Amino acid sequence: MTRLWNDPAAFADEMIDGFVAANGRYVRRVTGGVVRAGGTPAGQVAVVVGGGSGHYPAFGGLVGPGLAHGAAMGNLFASPSAQQIRAVAHAAHAGGGVFFSYGNYAGDVLNFSAAEERLRAEGIACATVTVTDDVASAGPHEHERRRGIAGDLTVFRAAAAAASAGYDLAGVARIARHANDRTRSFGVAFTGCTLPGAPEPLFSVPPGRMAVGLGIHGEPGIEETDVPTADELADLLVRTLLAERPAGADGRVVPILNGLGSLKYEELFVVYRRIAELLGDAGLEVVDPHVGEYCTSFDMAGTSLTLFWLDDELAGLWETPVDTPAYRRGAAAVSTTAAAESAAASATAAARATATATADAGSHPIAPGDDASRAAARVVTSVIDAVAATIDVHVDELGRLDAIAGDGDHGIGMQRGAHAARAAAHDAVAAGAGAGTTLACAADAWSDRAGGTSGALWGVILASVATALGDTGRPDRAAVVSGVAAGARGVVAYGHAEIGDKTMVDALAPFSSELGRAVAAGAPLAEAWRTAAEAATSAAAATADLLPRRGRARTHGQHSVGTPDPGAHSLALIATAVGDLLATERNGHHD
Ligand code: ADP
Ligand code: MG
Repeated sequence: MTRLWNDPAAFADEMIDGFVAANGRYVRRVTGGVVRAGGTPAGQVAVVVGGGSGHYPAFGGLVGPGLAHGAAMGNLFASPSAQQIRAVAHAAHAGGGVFFSYGNYAGDVLNFSAAEERLRAEGIACATVTVTDDVASAGPHEHERRRGIAGDLTVFRAAAAAASAGYDLAGVARIARHANDRTRSFGVAFTGCTLPGAPEPLFSVPPGRMAVGLGIHGEPGIEETDVPTADELADLLVRTLLAERPAGADGRVVPILNGLGSLKYEELFVVYRRIAELLGDAGLEVVDPHVGEYCTSFDMAGTSLTLFWLDDELAGLWETPVDTPAYRRGAAAVSTTAAAESAAASATAAARATATATADAGSHPIAPGDDASRAAARVVTSVIDAVAATIDVHVDELGRLDAIAGDGDHGIGMQRGAHAARAAAHDAVAAGAGAGTTLACAADAWSDRAGGTSGALWGVILASVATALGDTGRPDRAAVVSGVAAGARGVVAYGHAEIGDKTMVDALAPFSSELGRAVAAGAPLAEAWRTAAEAATSAAAATADLLPRRGRARTHGQHSVGTPDPGAHSLALIATAVGDLLATERNGHHD
């Protein structure tokens, strides 16, 4: 369990502050995460990694010469927001473009893709390779759908070595893709993990049992067995990974035995002893073995084995020195590289400072709305107050639903988002904003603070409605209908889920069409909203029968049959609460 914290909600931020205070030689704090203290050498491709916190040394601990140039650090087990990622990328960029790499999780993909889109629009070249090393998460024929676990390290390191060697953006991406194709991991767990302040573990493994293939956020494994001996575990890990030896691999392999947080190094060495024998028996040449913690999962007791299959190019890149807070290789050589790199980097410092300032100025300037729109903005804040209140009531329930096949963070993510949106909306109204700007500020704050998949998607929904409301005149029913419809289209465009995939789309689509139908039939907004909320509620309940085909829950879909989708359920709760609020507003206030 996690024993020490102040305010659980502040844990990730305070952790980053302390990490930076302890590692000022390596890293500098920027909005959204950290970059190398010495900066990125001018013209070098900036390798930006990232993901949720709780996996140290991933991701901030891997920033420094020879490895990442920057890391976007999200909340505990939640993807960093697009705003955070964009700010870190701006701070790391030194004219050579930005290369992103991160584990393949729906929330990370959404937020990194959104950041990439913004950066491209700003004229910064970007490329991405997601890490898909976990063989337990999808079959070999769908390698690209697998999730990323400790194999992050090999992909990040190969990409960063290529960047230091002067490869261009396309070259760095090619190396990273190749490294990812040559990286396979497989893991087991003996206990769950408990997030700071949580009354119980996020998930658990029965005593004496071992979850095979369990994900690093507690995504369920593929089977459960009795805890084996150390040697039997070594056999299982090696056998599983040798069955997936990539075509063309010549037999040189880097093994990485990763501890997930609560296994002792001594236990790992006992297991590694047998792994080394087995790899030798299989006729493989073991290169630079790693035994230790490279990607943890809070206090989870478990381990994973990664095999990284080298060829001449990857082997050459693998030999280059690395010097980061948590990971060092070839230390003597590194200091020269580091000195040279930071001298080159200081030349770009001024440009970087400007870029960071631009990235930070991402929120909405408050142009005052007219009287009618400012009156509507006050209704918008009451709506967001009601949203936050209903999420507070249901936060644990949403977490439990998400823990069944996802990672258990849906309640806390929605709560962080709703609270931030509420604060931003109140600030905007106090500054004289109209309805559209008020909701736009709330949308930005929501996606920035919530993180995760649903945070990005709620940002899209609220921003779409904000655009439709505008800052002049009293918004009418038609504006609300078209804003909600645009939000529904935006969620599909962004997340690519279709009706029946068991996501929030299953509640949002009927909500939007029912709202449009009722308004077109002449119903006042509050009444139309209530009918639409009822449609969303029954559609959300009906998702219990579905198998998830999108998002984190997809990997272990069968676990969720019988339980509604958390994102659809929260959407229905929000729709209902807003309906109740609108009904108590004066008739005609809004339409
Ligand atoms: P994360 O999956 O990043 O942990 P949350 O737990 O906050 O994020 O949200 C999970 C919810 O997000 C799911 O229940 C589902 O409704 C929604 N979701 C996931 N992927 C998609 C997608 N591609 N399109 C629409 N909704 C999605
Ligand atoms: Mg989740």
